[in-house]
Amino acid sequence: MIWSLHVPPKIKYFCRKLFRNCLPTRFNLQGRGVHCQSACVACNNDLEDEMHLFMHCKFAIDYWKATNLWGIIAPYMASSGSFSFIIFAILRAFGVENYARFVAILWSIRCARNAFLWSKNHSMQTHALFEAEGKFGVGIYSNCS
Ligand SMILES: [Zn+2]
Repeated sequence: MIWSLHVPPKIKYFCRKLFRNCLPTRFNLQGRGVHCQSACVACNNDLEDEMHLFMHCKFAIDYWKATNLWGIIAPYMASSGSFSFIIFAILRAFGVENYARFVAILWSIRCARNAFLWSKNHSMQTHALFEAEGKFGVGIYSNCS
């Protein structure tokens, strides 16, 4: 499914890592023996794992709301199961025609998180909006690696 999406290869690679719980979140880094803080880069409130970063962080929630997708995301917030299970359930809710948009937004949240980490810029939401609400073409992804 992911490999047939019309998104740049780096987003497909990102999805592969995300669905396998291999993104370098602080939780995953600590699991690999990296000494780092465990709190979320964006909000500094909770353990930064995939579930928090993309679903529970106040910045992610604000972002989903700003993209008018909160109505689709919100019912899954209290779901039990792994992050991958929940993401695939959300993807089914989005429908095949919207898969690319959904993964582009996940990618944008990740880019905003990294921008926040490296620049200490508190405009994570603004950055994410800029990334995802532009065109869903190759051009908007060029600034995030
Ligand atoms: Zn957070």
